[in-house]
Amino acid sequence: MEGESMEIDKIIKNAEKELGEVFKKIDEQAFKNSEKVLNAFHKNGISEIHFNSTTGYGYNDLGRDAVERVFADVLDAEDAIVRNQFVSGSHALNVALFSVLRPGDTMLSITGEPYDTLKEVIGIVENESSLKSFGVSYEGVDLVENDFDYERIEAILKKKDYKVVYIQRSRGYSTRASLTIDKVEKVIKLVKKVAPCSIVMVDNCYCELVESKTPCGVGADMMIGSLIKNLGGGVAPNGAYIAGVKRYIDLAGERLTLPGEGREVGPTLGINESFLRGIYMAPSVIASSLKTAVLASKVLEDMGYKVSPRYDEARADIVEAITFGNGEDLIKFVEGIQMGSAVDSSAIPEPTDMPGYEDKIIMASGSFVQGSSIEISADGPLREPYIAYLQGGITYDYGKLALKSALSRMMK
Ligand SMILES: *Cc1c(COP(=O)(O)O)cnc(C)c1O
Repeated sequence: MEGESMEIDKIIKNAEKELGEVFKKIDEQAFKNSEKVLNAFHKNGISEIHFNSTTGYGYNDLGRDAVERVFADVLDAEDAIVRNQFVSGSHALNVALFSVLRPGDTMLSITGEPYDTLKEVIGIVENESSLKSFGVSYEGVDLVENDFDYERIEAILKKKDYKVVYIQRSRGYSTRASLTIDKVEKVIKLVKKVAPCSIVMVDNCYCELVESKTPCGVGADMMIGSLIKNLGGGVAPNGAYIAGVKRYIDLAGERLTLPGEGREVGPTLGINESFLRGIYMAPSVIASSLKTAVLASKVLEDMGYKVSPRYDEARADIVEAITFGNGEDLIKFVEGIQMGSAVDSSAIPEPTDMPGYEDKIIMASGSFVQGSSIEISADGPLREPYIAYLQGGITYDYGKLALKSALSRMMK
């Protein structure tokens, strides 16, 4: 065992020797983003009073309003709704879609089939509460070679009106790459030119603060993300956000709570301080996650596995996809991440059916917050080509320790 541990240390040390330049760029990006967050705190005069809390209806919650202004500024959006009443990122996406789509409307995904949990929301998988059941149609255009199919998108948008043009940036459980903000900017320009009335909605999960620009900064009307991912900074215990054009954010509020009360209600129950502390920590936590992903990429590529992105490739999100090609290695890797986590390290994760997902999923999330994927986590569906998606790392050291644990499990 001793020898094996030394062997792993050597593999990691050798990999790290080549990562200096990449890590330096990650640190520079984190510094810029920290400055942006701090400026948002200053601009909005964040003070102790904003750590207050409401109960019951949650009227007149100063802290909640301040949180939403800070998020809007950090995301380059006119407005934002940031709530603990969102149970997950998927819930916020569901609210965003239902808030603007009406019977007879069509949504067009220009990044192929959306994330697994949205299939029942949209009605790609039958559900009697889906958008489809309300008479909302869905169409999709696949990506080509990890980029938008600009020509087809233009042709389709010229033929018919689409209420929502939908973009999912991160790869989800697919084999494609995540979409950088430059690509998103290019396609939004096209959509706005051909179909200026369409609402451009972006699933921005895992992409926040990885690059300087944001979807709303490059013209998206609505963007959505989870607070147990990037912007929660490993601090927020739950919640999600929708940011964008004020009119749509107001509509999202009416759908999340009820028509007529909208954003005026929603008790914060003590969460404002966590949301503010979370976004404050987010730039450096995201940097640690990125370094963990880069290290994993380098090490696993050196071991002969196919990885995406490669260690020195441009990144749009904090996710590292590692193709194992067989279920056994995938399972061992995920088990090893769990064994190297802070919480429930002795629990062995097993592939299981999960609500909203079609294949069995194996998931390591030995985290303080249930299901958090910013702390350190690895997961993947048990299907060809057996890819593990690794993400998170509150600190680089803990990320590296989890990776060591995974390598050790694989070598057994
Ligand atoms: C994580 C994720 C979501 C939302 O997932 P939740 O677990 O419901 O928060 C949506 N889209 C993508 C691409 C994701 O990675």
